[in-house]
Amino acid sequence: MKTRVTARGRTAITKSSRGIALLRDPLLNHGTGFTEKERDALGLRGLLPPTVLSIKAQAERVLTNLRRAPDDLDKYVALNALHDRNEALFFKVVTENIDEIQPIIYTPTVGLACQRFGHIFQRPRGLFISANDRGRIAKLLANWPYPAKLIVVTDGERILGLGDLGANGMGIPVGKLSLYAACAGIHPQQCLPVMLDVGTNNEELRKDPYYVGLRRKRVTGAAYDALIDEFITAARKTFPGVLIQFEDFANHSAFRLLHKYRDRACVFNDDIQGTAAVALAGLFSALRITGGKLSEQTLLFLGAGEAATGIADLVVSAMMAEGLSEAEARQRNWLVDSRGLVVKGRQGLTAHKLPYAHEHAPVSNFVTAIRALKPTAIIGVAAVGGTFTPEVLKTMAEINKQPIVFALSNPTSKAECSAEEAYCYTEGRALFACGSPYDPVTLNAKTFVPRQGNNSYIFPGVGLGVIASGSKLVTDEMFMAAAQTLAKLVTAEDLKQGSLYPALPRIREVSAHIAAAVAKVAYQRGLAKGKQPKNLLAHIKAQMYNPNY
Ligand code: NAD
Repeated sequence: MKTRVTARGRTAITKSSRGIALLRDPLLNHGTGFTEKERDALGLRGLLPPTVLSIKAQAERVLTNLRRAPDDLDKYVALNALHDRNEALFFKVVTENIDEIQPIIYTPTVGLACQRFGHIFQRPRGLFISANDRGRIAKLLANWPYPAKLIVVTDGERILGLGDLGANGMGIPVGKLSLYAACAGIHPQQCLPVMLDVGTNNEELRKDPYYVGLRRKRVTGAAYDALIDEFITAARKTFPGVLIQFEDFANHSAFRLLHKYRDRACVFNDDIQGTAAVALAGLFSALRITGGKLSEQTLLFLGAGEAATGIADLVVSAMMAEGLSEAEARQRNWLVDSRGLVVKGRQGLTAHKLPYAHEHAPVSNFVTAIRALKPTAIIGVAAVGGTFTPEVLKTMAEINKQPIVFALSNPTSKAECSAEEAYCYTEGRALFACGSPYDPVTLNAKTFVPRQGNNSYIFPGVGLGVIASGSKLVTDEMFMAAAQTLAKLVTAEDLKQGSLYPALPRIREVSAHIAAAVAKVAYQRGLAKGKQPKNLLAHIKAQMYNPNY
């Protein structure tokens, strides 16, 4: 069946799509929303009950039913089924209720959905490419019926903070691409989720009778690299100009793949670069409250993986933009990993940690490190729940008038502390951001509204900007521009209530502005295709998909 994306981002129904096949195509189906005229013209008479419902009424019905579902996983399953049935309606519900729905289709519920993926599996979405497909990946890609502009690919080895979930990790690219469509208006037909199934070292999963992936240990080394290489080459040939986002790769692959491909293909790694931009934006917002400069801060990270070093690298660039040398900037960023403070001379440090291995005596305990280094900000990205203990928070409050506390690990079970803990143990002085959603907290008659330092503020806009400009590459300068743009969109009202990010319902406006800033960098650096439109923001807004009939 043929469909095409119209100039205004809608899916046009072409002459060949009719009757029952039309109702079964989620990109074209309007369900009971088909009008009387359409029912006659498209051979739908009798295939639908007689009452025509508007998309508004359909969306209300979906929400009513959703709110009756007993738990979040049931809500996830219901939304997934809607996604498979009627994409316009799904995206209308998501877009207009993003605050309520994002935590279901993305973190934290998507983590649980991935753990249960084989058990709740209904219909495949995207492409499953396995290690058995070596030598024929181009053929598999040719089976995809739509012209992809954006691929989110994972090998499932580090799904959120949940570890190796193998092929079950497909829930993440699916969820991320839903956010690209909902939050930045990238047309769903242009989005392709890909699972590169190289096996799993998760023995429990391999024994699960409903596991959907290869029941073998992970392919590693040269065979793994060859598979990735074949995929990247084939994807770029099948879908010229396609943007490929690496997602939830373990850090031994993530850094390597990013460095290998970033200067020769249009790729980025959201866990490293997207996280960095969202955290930097949160720091800029916090500094609007304290009045300090970034280059005066000392940051202590709990965790030394993709998120931590990604954030630290971008912070270093931003500190250098304020006049510090690279060495001075790095010296202001410290990492703590599972073996304690990362210090010079420690044996066995991996390459990505080395730039942050400073001269210092070994310190094994986080609180001791805080007392020794006196950080103005602590950033939790170790995926170990509860590590910002009352003692950690109280110590930060002793040292700082307004301590910056970012508990970014996902899902909620891995959060370093809750919003309530952050505010209570710092007497309401913490400038707090979290990886998972938390309700407002009232303390001494003041209500704090914590917002998620979630890369979903960044990647949709970056993706839209790259696609809209036809950029050949995705650069760090684009992430810096994204962070600055995001921070500028935080209002004085937001800051007054302790929110370091804009309200989520503004996400499409936020994404459009980030996209314009990213596209501007692409044009300035000669990476874009064609001439820069006069009004970049208007040009980008006009391309955004608006779910409707
Ligand atoms: P990663 O596996 O690359 O890094 C984890 C790091 O934590 C490693 O350096 C490890 O040594 C360290 N670690 C493990 N146990 C520790 C302990 N007890 N004490 C100190 N350090 C310890 O993972 P990542 O990609 O950096 O992600 C980490 C977490 O951040 C995950 O929960 C992920 O979901 C979350 N994250 C959140 C966002 C967001 O937008 N909020 C974005 C990216 C990642």
